[in-house]
Amino acid sequence: MKLKHSSDQGIYHSTTWRYLLAILIIALLSTSAYYTLQSALSDSEATAYIVNLSGRQRMLSQHVALDAHRFHQAKLAESPLPPEAISLMKQNIIDMRTANRQLSSGILSDSMTVDLSIPMREMYFGEMNLYGRVNRYLDIAQKIQSITDNDARRTYLKRIDSVSEQLLQDLNTVVKQYQVEGEQRLEKIEDLELIVWIATLVALLLEVLLIFRPMVAIVVSAQKAQARTLENLEEMVELRTIKLEIANKKLKEIATIDPLTKLKNRLTLETDVEGLIEASEKNHVPFALSIIDVDWFKEVNDTFGHPAGDYVLKELATLMTAIIREYDHLYRAGGEEFVLVLNRVKHSEALFILEKLRKTIAQHNFNFEGSPINITVSVGLYHSSQSDLGRVQDIVRVADHALYIAKNSGRNRIQSVKPDEVRQTA
Ligand code: GH3
Ligand code: MG
Ligand code: MG
Repeated sequence: MKLKHSSDQGIYHSTTWRYLLAILIIALLSTSAYYTLQSALSDSEATAYIVNLSGRQRMLSQHVALDAHRFHQAKLAESPLPPEAISLMKQNIIDMRTANRQLSSGILSDSMTVDLSIPMREMYFGEMNLYGRVNRYLDIAQKIQSITDNDARRTYLKRIDSVSEQLLQDLNTVVKQYQVEGEQRLEKIEDLELIVWIATLVALLLEVLLIFRPMVAIVVSAQKAQARTLENLEEMVELRTIKLEIANKKLKEIATIDPLTKLKNRLTLETDVEGLIEASEKNHVPFALSIIDVDWFKEVNDTFGHPAGDYVLKELATLMTAIIREYDHLYRAGGEEFVLVLNRVKHSEALFILEKLRKTIAQHNFNFEGSPINITVSVGLYHSSQSDLGRVQDIVRVADHALYIAKNSGRNRIQSVKPDEVRQTA
């Protein structure tokens, strides 16, 4: 029981750590998939934003140049632009400056930052110096809006015109560079997604092979072992039952069979005769009970020895068993006394059978180790026709009384008791 308990615990532990490990691996996989997707999402967001912003900056550079010209024309025509148009012009300059700062630093918003590539940095702060040129370009645009002298303004306008073409081209290069880098980044994300997907499949396959399959094997083998233990237990119980049955049978034999003659003993006699009396009363079937006692048996022992006496008793049992019918019953009632119960017999038939028995014994040549022994028996008979006696003890007492008479009348004879004597005796 203790062993079973400890093996149960072993299975519990080994399966528990296996499925905990499996769960941990799945948790790690889903977390890494989550973060990969999350970073892919924010990366593609930032890429879209930066491409968009650089395109807008390119557009703004043209707007700023156009605004400067419109402003100058309006001043020349002395028809001032409406205030909304002026504030829109100022706004364009502010927006382009902001875009320049964001794009050159990579800080797109509080929550969105991009690492600028080396070519990008080179373009903004290297030889091309885009960052400084954009700012100077915007400074000139601002100056144009604040100058009142037409000639001076024209000079600044020429400066804008002289740089705007090249600036547009360079800003266009920036847009393209951002697009190329964005595409490369997206390709990397796609690769990463593929890696995560394949890693998930591989991890699941490994879980199946290294965790779930061995787990199933453990449970199955535990079940088999349990079934085997049960089978063994059942076999043991069956074996013990058989042994018990045999032991019971032996005990019953010891209690009911006489070991010397192998005849049934007095204990069985009483139960059997009780049944016989019942059946006889119910079905009106006659029966006889006789006590057969060896004459002068003590002398046999005294003359030939106790083993000779035993031999005689065994020989008598064999002889009588051979004579009686299969539905009659012979018992060793004790000592050298036998009881013969004859079933379904009239009084005369009982006398006939007993007479045959007596004669056979008297004529039999008992021979123990070369010594011939003469044996006779006296028989006391009770027959159910004589009187209906309901108790075994009463019947035995009547037969015993008849035996007493037989002994006193010279032995080697069969004696019945007269009906009126039966009552007195019982
Ligand atoms: P009676 O004709 O009056 O019956 O004389 P008896 O000698 O047969 O009667 P008694 O009762 O005096 O003696 C019976 C003897 O049977 C006494 C006892 O030692 C012997 N005896 C009883 N059981 C056994 C047995 O199992 N084996 C042997 N060898 N002798 C037994
Ligand atoms: Mg005797
Ligand atoms: Mg006796």
